Amino acid sequence: MTYIGVLALQGAFIEHIERLQECIKEYDNYDLDEDINIISVRTPEELEKCKALIIPGGESTSMSLIAQRTGFLPFLRDFVNDSSKAIWGTCAGLIFLSETVQGDGGGSGGSPLTAFDPTSRSNLVEPLNLVKVRVKRNAFGRQAQSFTKICDFSSFIPNCTDFPATFIRAPVIEEIIDADRVKTLYTLPNPSSATGELIVAAKQDDNVLVTAFHPELAENDIRFHDYFIREYVLKNL
Ligand code: GLN
Repeated sequence: MTYIGVLALQGAFIEHIERLQECIKEYDNYDLDEDINIISVRTPEELEKCKALIIPGGESTSMSLIAQRTGFLPFLRDFVNDSSKAIWGTCAGLIFLSETVQGDGGGSGGSPLTAFDPTSRSNLVEPLNLVKVRVKRNAFGRQAQSFTKICDFSSFIPNCTDFPATFIRAPVIEEIIDADRVKTLYTLPNPSSATGELIVAAKQDDNVLVTAFHPELAENDIRFHDYFIREYVLKNL
């Protein structure tokens, strides 16, 4: 039995669990040899069972603080840094998994949050330091500037030419720190530079996937979760 966990401290974990369950239902009808079980993860005991972990979108500051205050952070850090595990971070999950996090505001259409001191807020995120990238939080601006874009992911997910990718106060990967390990999977054009591109999906080694957008919000569309299960979880068993 292979357990896939979804970190359930905060954020959009229910939607990830739903998409994963839909995958399992689909596999029941088809080909998969491996029995897969999906669990929500809040404790070291639950984490210990898992072969894979999804860190959902939400609020990376809150997620990091909850993990620190509950004493869960060291377990999480050890787990994600174990290369035999498959890991996927979406949006806040990408921020939390990164090596370096840059603060709010600015960038392409971004505006600083006025109610908080952006610098001190982003300093509160204690990144898990797994993915060798520098991310910028809220790179597309505020909640109201959220958008869904139909993306062609067929260069890494066969035939997936029309996936609805939702960006909600999304980060971007501004710099790949270790280009031997981190490969860009998808970029959006950078509106503030004619030549530049914004990296919004990447993979590190064979076991770590990060996306700035929310594939779990594509209701009844399991193509991205199927990709994670087949290419990251099952290939690393
Ligand atoms: N902007 C959020 C953060 O900094 C992430 C938003 C999301 O996960 N949708 O944590």
